[in-house]
Amino acid sequence: MEHLFIFKFGGSCLKNKQSMENTIQILDHYINNGKIIIVTSAFYGVTDKLIDWINYSTDLRTESESENKLLGIKDFHKEIISNMISKKDLKTESLKYLDERFKELKSKIPELVHENLNKEIKDFILSYGERLSTYIYSIYLLDNGYKAQFFSTDDDLIITNKFFGNALPILEKIETNIPLKLRSALDKNIIPIISGYYGVSEDGKITTLGRGGTDFSATIVGYALSEIYDVKVIFWKDVYGLLSANPKFECHAKLVERVSFKEAKELAFFGSKIIHPLCLNTAEIKDIKVELRNFNDPFAPKSTIITKQGNEHESVIKAITTIEKISMITIEGEAMVSLPGTAAKVFSIIGENDININFISQSSSENNITFGVSQKDGFRAGNVLANSKYFGNRWLQIKVDHEMSLVAVVGEGMQHRKGIAGKVFSTLGDVDVNVVAIAQGSSELNITFVIDQEDLEKAIKGLYHTFIINNGH
Ligand code: ASP
Ligand code: MG
Repeated sequence: MEHLFIFKFGGSCLKNKQSMENTIQILDHYINNGKIIIVTSAFYGVTDKLIDWINYSTDLRTESESENKLLGIKDFHKEIISNMISKKDLKTESLKYLDERFKELKSKIPELVHENLNKEIKDFILSYGERLSTYIYSIYLLDNGYKAQFFSTDDDLIITNKFFGNALPILEKIETNIPLKLRSALDKNIIPIISGYYGVSEDGKITTLGRGGTDFSATIVGYALSEIYDVKVIFWKDVYGLLSANPKFECHAKLVERVSFKEAKELAFFGSKIIHPLCLNTAEIKDIKVELRNFNDPFAPKSTIITKQGNEHESVIKAITTIEKISMITIEGEAMVSLPGTAAKVFSIIGENDININFISQSSSENNITFGVSQKDGFRAGNVLANSKYFGNRWLQIKVDHEMSLVAVVGEGMQHRKGIAGKVFSTLGDVDVNVVAIAQGSSELNITFVIDQEDLEKAIKGLYHTFIINNGH
């Protein structure tokens, strides 16, 4: 099968003249080794600018105030076009495209200013970051003599459900649509330049895949083409890849060069924020090769390669990861033992309030449930429970501890191996760290626990020494 490289260029690859020129160097390096597809994010910072615009407009502004602010975003793109596109006809064409798109955005102002904000209009607006950058980037490549073609994912490329803000792809549909749409360009060696982050529902509504969703778009495209090509998805990032610990706390932290999909998903989940956690699921199903490379040192011999097998020969534990700041909410009281469905109630109240849970533990005596949320949601989580009909009674107490940290010891090697949990907790005892709550996923890929924030550095250093430097001995 012929090679197909799918590059994901994020906002920091589309930041300025120098970074855009860098993408061309990367392209030249790979162009003779197979087909190429590029999936792009919005220009650096633009998604945040659009969110600011939405918030500004819904905050008791007039239509003309909203329009003025929108003009700032338009000018930002106009400047990119005038600095980056040199051929006159291409420049004219891009400016026309820009005018049309901003007319569409402007038409939403009355709704933004006068009506309640809903997730549907928000997704519609947020898609414009990628809609603009991807088009302009495709013109930039044409301007530089490459054969490139812009594809917008709402042109039936990425079909999703209607979970606005965090939509999920409907893979069966995508699997037939994408090859159909891209085949002719690929056959002619034209580079498809595909917008990341958004898709479209079956009834034609624009949806987004969650912040950082362009990673997800890239592996979705890879998924759909994996029967035809030997696909490799390369995420061009600001770092060489995944690290074995947060270097802020452990100076020996090193690059994890080979890791399995399962391990990488754990690392992505626990706050390293380098890749979108769901993008790996899609790649894993079809066993697509995934690599993280440093955009600022693109041809360096080091990177993180993610495969099914990972590297069994390395240490049992691949990484110690952390979420530095969490709040822990505990609901306790004997009354819980006789109240079936308490856990379901807790989690549905939290879910309805859009609060994400990153840790759950329940004691078998059933008189308490503990869960962790990010520190910014801590007060709110406690309040919505305390004010609810169900929990706001004197039989149950709700306790919120802020200033907590979550630590996870991650490695597929712990499966079916005895003594890892014992070693984790004896190490913590040795370095004088008190463990407040514990959870282990039944997949045995991680052991997770909560400690006081002030113990975090001690805990990481101790575990790192035992498991990564001394490989558990
Ligand atoms: N532009 C979107 C964001 O900033 C998607 C992405 O960058 O992947 O979240
Ligand atoms: Mg981005």
